[in-house]
This record gives sequence, structure tokens and C-alpha cells, in this order.
Amino acid sequence: METYAYGFPRLGKDREYKKAIEDFWKKKITEKELKECIYNLDKERVDIYDKYVDNFPAGEMTFYDNMLDTAIIVGLYKSENLDDYFELCRGKNALEMTKWFNTNYHYLVPKIDESFSPAQFNLSWDKLTQVKERSKKGVPCLIGPFTFLKLSKGIEPGKFKEYLFSLADVYKKIIDNLDEIYLDEPALVMELSPEETSMVKEVYKKITTQKDKITLFTYYDSVDFLADLYELPLKAIGLDFVNGKENLENIKKYGFPEDKILIAGIVDGRNVWKTDIKASLEILKELNKYAKNLAVSNAAPLSHLPITKKGENLDERLLGKLAFAQERLEELQLISRIYKNGENKEGEEYSNNSADDFGVNNDVREKIKNLKEEDFLKKMSYEERDKKQREILNLPLFPTTTIGSFPQTPEVRKKRMDFKRGKISKEEYQSFIKEEITNLIKFQEKIGLDVFVHGEFERTDMVEFFAQKLEGIATTDNGWIISYGTRGYRPPLIYGDVARSKPMTVDEISFAQNLTEKPVKGMLTGPVTIIAWSFVRKDIPVSQVAYQLGLCLQEEIKDYEKANIKIVQIDEPAFREKAPIKKRNWKQYFQWAVKAFNLASQSKPELQIHTHMCYSEFGEIIEQINQMNFDVITIEASRSKGNILSHFENSDFNRQIGLGVWDIHSPQIPTPGEITATVKRALKTFPNDNFWINPDCGLKTRGWDESAKSLENMVEVTRELRKEFVS
Ligand code: GLN
Ligand code: ZN
Repeated sequence: METYAYGFPRLGKDREYKKAIEDFWKKKITEKELKECIYNLDKERVDIYDKYVDNFPAGEMTFYDNMLDTAIIVGLYKSENLDDYFELCRGKNALEMTKWFNTNYHYLVPKIDESFSPAQFNLSWDKLTQVKERSKKGVPCLIGPFTFLKLSKGIEPGKFKEYLFSLADVYKKIIDNLDEIYLDEPALVMELSPEETSMVKEVYKKITTQKDKITLFTYYDSVDFLADLYELPLKAIGLDFVNGKENLENIKKYGFPEDKILIAGIVDGRNVWKTDIKASLEILKELNKYAKNLAVSNAAPLSHLPITKKGENLDERLLGKLAFAQERLEELQLISRIYKNGENKEGEEYSNNSADDFGVNNDVREKIKNLKEEDFLKKMSYEERDKKQREILNLPLFPTTTIGSFPQTPEVRKKRMDFKRGKISKEEYQSFIKEEITNLIKFQEKIGLDVFVHGEFERTDMVEFFAQKLEGIATTDNGWIISYGTRGYRPPLIYGDVARSKPMTVDEISFAQNLTEKPVKGMLTGPVTIIAWSFVRKDIPVSQVAYQLGLCLQEEIKDYEKANIKIVQIDEPAFREKAPIKKRNWKQYFQWAVKAFNLASQSKPELQIHTHMCYSEFGEIIEQINQMNFDVITIEASRSKGNILSHFENSDFNRQIGLGVWDIHSPQIPTPGEITATVKRALKTFPNDNFWINPDCGLKTRGWDESAKSLENMVEVTRELRKEFVS
């Protein structure tokens, strides 16, 4: 049985990718040197594929993002050199960024508005031919036309088809020049309308008439109109059998055409636990009843995994359960061999599923088992809580606050590194953090904010920080994943029952609170976001993991109460992103997601609970937000103002809200005029008494200068507005 693989990480074992590109930005290396470095990295990737699997793509490497590359290939953007190219990624007129399906990868969103007519698509960059020239190995690959257009923005309603068909001509040209191509079409797993599915069929018939050229990959979920794909001129179809459970049902129902290869995505591309070889073989045997030509591959791009587990300093029992990208390739080889030889012992030995009690915490299990429905409900209504909280907090009209983090200056990062490397003692590091907190409290006093934060100087990453403090979660040294461009993060591994053995954040928060009369917000990352940005165990339902996390946060909040903290913020930036791709699966997800949040936010009614979300399309989830137990929500709004407001108008949302009054993802300082306009527009939708004034996200990535000026403007505007609205 043949093996396929795709999406192998591009970062390099020592993050050479990041270093080279950032060196180029700093002008430390030339364009030529950068290209040389990136092409070498690509060659290493290709050699790894070549060592383990029979078929793999060429041309996956990009200098930033493959959606952008595709946009340049088809003539939507011009880029003569790498300076032009990076201008599109991070210059003044950079493309907007958004999450790629339900992953934590952000792609650059091509914008196709009326200034670009369908006829303007044309083959402008022959990337694939160049790729072929560089490498004799691998099949050229590209994001498919439907996915490219579906994930672009700005297309006038009703014009999609026109653009798609014109785009098809460009793809035809590309494909005519090649013997074979891999096209990635993950958008085919979305819930598409009948018009869209018929467009997909037409467009593929338009781009080729030959049946042995195109291998089509789908992933992240199942394809609802699978049988329709059978009519298309395709050589092979890749389907996800890990996260697309319905694919198997559909194959049983519709069979599989004899003239095509079924590439069964059988090893997980989105999680790190070793494949259960025996179970995989069962699926393959089942599939083989319907598909004469069967091959195996990863089930989703391997770019969602770190490169290799080799060299990680983890408990042997955990290490033995893991498979990162390179280990996935080894698994494919193993599965193919066992399948051929019909021998199972090797597979059983590999998976070694014998139960051990590593990571088991019976106390935690007992607590989860004993949870009752009422444990997820607030004992007191929002109206009553609100009354109590207003008495205690005594805040002015339009309270001002920030989202939590303040600029992580090079000095802060350096101290953390020094501490990690043992260059400075724990005491020294902690007293440095306290100094930073003290300065920040003074700063907030000076500019006159109403609700303070401690600044999050002690945190690298809002998930990793908690992962390091909780039992049952491990963190890696080198398990980097790209989140966008050259930016990486290391998802923690939730391998066991999650427990809190001691307070995680109370020291810093109460230190800050003791410095001021103003309320300081306790700052926590919510259970859903911790799950979304980690690799989560699969041996118990994810809802259970979420409740375990919820309980840990609840305990932390109890300690806040003891320390006289009056406001707590539970961040859930990934709340929307984690939702399944198909809306029909939303109910199940939101059920546990909302409950986990509500478990975390159980507290005395006097404690004001805030939550923060960013980059969410709120219209779609407003009903779910309404079921969450918080008193105040702060959200990102500066990029889609009008839209968000209309959704709130049409819902019965009646709690307090802080709509971000400036976009912290841009270094632009908002003028008082701009802030006033944003607030006044929002006040048409929300009662004055329920409105908070704040930036739209944490200030971690901003500089001090611009943050200070922006906050000063924000406070000044608020003072003016109070005069206007109070009298
Ligand atoms: N409290 C976090 C911060 O301010 C929230 C970050 C986020 O929403 N992604 O950085
Ligand atoms: Zn945010």
C-alpha cells in the first residue's frame, strides 16, 4: 500500500525559518541569502518525506503564507521581490489576518473587491515551475481554486461564480504545464450550499479533462457531497478519517470509484498521541471492501504538529505515547508494512495501549463525577449581582480599563530568559516582576484609569503559563508550531487529570491590589482557550478535561476572594475558533464549552466576573455568549464595528460590555475624535450605564510610547463624555 504525506512543518528543527526571515527584516542578510536558507530548509523537508513515504508534495514552502502565495500566483497582488512580498504581510497596507478553519494558524486574507474584476486573474508567478526546477522530487501543490476563493473576502454576493470560473482558467494554465498536481481543498468539508457544490463540480471539469493529473486533498472534517466528487476528473481523493468520521459512513453508502485512488488520512495531523495501529488497520480493511486502490496518509497537514519528539525532556511514560510530525511519517511506513504483511504484533507493540496510572488523579475524577447541573448555574440573577457589585465597586460612568497585558519590553523578556537559564535567582526575578507591577500601578494611577491590571509581565504565553502551574499538563522545550508568519508557540500537552496544587496567580495579583485603592482584576485564561491551544488527551471526553480545568480556575478564584480581589477576568479568546467547522456539530461543542466557563466562573455574587474574547464573529455565537455566566464582556470591535453592534441590537443581551475603542494590532495611536466616534456609535446600542471603555485586546505586543499616548487619549475622551452624559 502506497503512502502519502503533506504539510510537513517548515519551521526547521532550530527554527531556522524564523531566524532567517527575521534577519532579513533586520537587514542582516540579503534577499539572496534568505532564499538560499529557505530553499535549503525546504530541501531538508523534502528529504525527510523521501526517506519515509512514497508520495509527497513539492512547493509547500513559503516565505510567509500560502494563501498569499496563491493570491500572487493568480495575479491578485504584485510582488517583484521579497520587499514587496513582506510589505503585503506586515507593511502599512498589509492584508488582514484570520484563523484558518478551526485551527490556530492565521492566514493572510486575500481581498477581492470591485476594483479587481474577474477577468484580471492571470498567471503572474510561475511558482510551481520554479519549484519543479529546484527539486526533482515531489508533486507540485497548490491551494485549490474553491478554497482560495471561499476564504478570500470582499467578493460581491452573486459574483462568486464569475470569479471562480475566471480563476479556473489560470488553474488550467498551471495544470496544463505539469504532469501532475496536488490541490488542497479543505473548504470542501464546510457545509456548502447546493449552488456551491455544483460550482465545485463545474470548475474541476473546467480545469482539466485528464483523469490522471489531479490529486485532491480534503481535511479537518468529512465531505458532505462525497459521491459528487466521484464524477470529477481526479486521480486520487484524500479524505480525513480521524476528524471526519462521516467519511467512512459515506464510503460505505456510496462506495468508491475503481478508477481513482482513495488516500485514507489515518494518522492524526492535529494531535500528538501515537496512532492506534490496530484500530487504523481495521478502518483500512473496511475501506478496502469499497476502494480497490487504497493508500494511506496523514489526516490533516502535519504543520499543526511540532517536528519531532526526539530531544524532548519529558517523562518516559509520556514520551512513549507521543508522535510528532516526523514520527507520523514513521507510522505511515509502519502501517503500510503491516498492512502488506498482514502481521499485527509489531503494531500492537508500537501502540502499547496497556493502561497505566500515569497522570491519574482519583480526587479530580471523583469531583467531576459528583458534579450536578446546579454546579454550573449562578445562584443569583445578573440584576441582583449587578446591584451588589455596583455598591462595592462604586465605579464612575463609563469605567475605563485595559485587557490585561502591558508591553513586554526586551528588558522583561531578557530577565525571563536569564531566570530560565539560571543566570539570575528566583528571588531576583520575582523582585524584578514586582518592580514592574509597582511601576504599572503608578502609571495607571497617573493616567487615571478606573479598573487596574497587574500587566502579566510574569507570563510568556497565556496558555503555557497556566500549563506550567497545573498538574496533568506538560510543556515542551522545542515543540514549536507556527501561529502566523514567523511567529510560533508551543502548545502544552494535556496528558493526565488536571489539578491545581497551589495558587497560580494570587501572589502577583494581590501584590498589585495592595498597592492601590482601585480594583485590580484577577487575570485567568479560560478552560476553552487552554484546550484550544493545547494538545488534549483523547482517552476521556474533552468535556471532562474542560470541567477539570474549570474546577482549577474556580479554586483559584476562591483564593482571589480570600485576598480581597473584587474583579476577575477570564479570557476566552479561542471560544469561537474552537467551534467545529460544520454548524450541525456546534450544539455539542458549545454545550461543554459554556458549561466549562460557567464552572470556572462560579463565585460569590459580589465578585464581578469579566470575560474577554477577540477576533470572534460575534453574530454567530451571541446566543451562546448569553448563556455564559459573566457580568462584563470586553471584545474586539475596531475591525468590524457596525456589524457587531447590529448583532447585539437583535439579541436580548443585557449585561455590561466594553467594546474595544482602538485596534491594538496596529501601532496607530487613535485620536480623541476617533475614540469619541466609536463610543458614541456604540451608545446607540448599549445603555450608558452598561458601557465600559477599553482597548480591544492586550497591549503585550505594543510599545510603551504608543500605548501610553493611546490610553491617555482614551481617558481624556472618557472624561469629556462623562460631562456630556451625566448632566
Ligand atoms: N489578558 C490577555 C492579554 O491582555 C488577553 C489576550 C488575548 O485576548 N489574546 O494579553
Ligand atoms: Zn484579545
